[in-house]
Amino acid sequence: MKRFPPCLAVFFLWSVGAVAQQLPLVKVLSTGGTIASRFDPVQKGFVPALSGEQLVEAVPEIKTIARVEIEAVANIGSSDMTPEIWLKLARRANEVLAESGVAGVVVTHGTDTIEETAYFLDLTVTDEKPVILVGAQRAASIKDTDGPRNLMNAIRVAISAEARGKGAVIVMNGEINAAREVTKTSTLDVGTFQSLEFGKLGYVGDDGVRFYRAPLRRQTIPLPPTARLGRIEIVPHYAGADGRLIRGLTSEGGCDGLVIAGAGLGHVSGTMFDAIEQVRAKDIPVVVSTRVYTGRTQPLYATKGSGVSLVKIGCVLADNLSPQKARVLLMVAMTRTKDPKELAKYFDR
Ligand code: ASP
Repeated sequence: MKRFPPCLAVFFLWSVGAVAQQLPLVKVLSTGGTIASRFDPVQKGFVPALSGEQLVEAVPEIKTIARVEIEAVANIGSSDMTPEIWLKLARRANEVLAESGVAGVVVTHGTDTIEETAYFLDLTVTDEKPVILVGAQRAASIKDTDGPRNLMNAIRVAISAEARGKGAVIVMNGEINAAREVTKTSTLDVGTFQSLEFGKLGYVGDDGVRFYRAPLRRQTIPLPPTARLGRIEIVPHYAGADGRLIRGLTSEGGCDGLVIAGAGLGHVSGTMFDAIEQVRAKDIPVVVSTRVYTGRTQPLYATKGSGVSLVKIGCVLADNLSPQKARVLLMVAMTRTKDPKELAKYFDR
């Protein structure tokens, strides 16, 4: 076998190292979810098991485009995600993006509540650098898992200059969707994330990253280090809903704010209106969203429980935010004000 002189071998290793050093640096914050899940034969179901390191190691191609540093923030199914973990994620994302060598952040996450975490980070991360959230619909131990492809694509977007200034985005199934707009639309399909009103921002794949539009309706609300997020509950309206859930909330210790998933333009029954009025009488902020997937809430009807009456008692309309996103914005905005007129400004921008 032909042998290289030792000085050539040293030069080769040095140059490989030097090239690697020039690759952009991405921080991966791992939180668990299906992307990190394996089938557990004892529990007879999937459970989050893989570390962030194992996720990245499973995709060797990542090393050809980026250097990656990994931090575990949690290892949970995202139905266990909490506002406390959001605060941790936002703090770490802000800290690591402030480092000059870091190109972007990737958060690995369960898909169930990823859109809420994405919107929280969209509001609270102050840096222009990309913040990418990624998950999978098929667990890591399934042969055709979508996790590795999604993770590779997430890294591609995290190092893309074009992704700067677009806020937090979800990258899955070769598509890039804006945090404020995207929602989970299918329990099992890999193409589950869609921005129903305005469409995806772009595509990502082996041929690179391609944006077609930018999300214009964005705002940044920096959080002080001591920020505390209030308890905000969501109560839906449905035929026959009479406000009992809202009255029950009071006996359970109440809440700091309420989001109503109204019907249509943001309507509730007359009896549910009475319960909301009692909440408003305690100066608790109430935001009215809708259970309809697209469109804005608006005060067009004047019957008791319709928009005109709700606005009259100081309810804030959620614009076109879904109930779960309206809750995120209310939580963040309430770190600044409880005044409905001031809160309305956050929902109108
Ligand atoms: N149960 C999972 C979660 O953590 C589902 C997923 O990741 O797709 O949200």
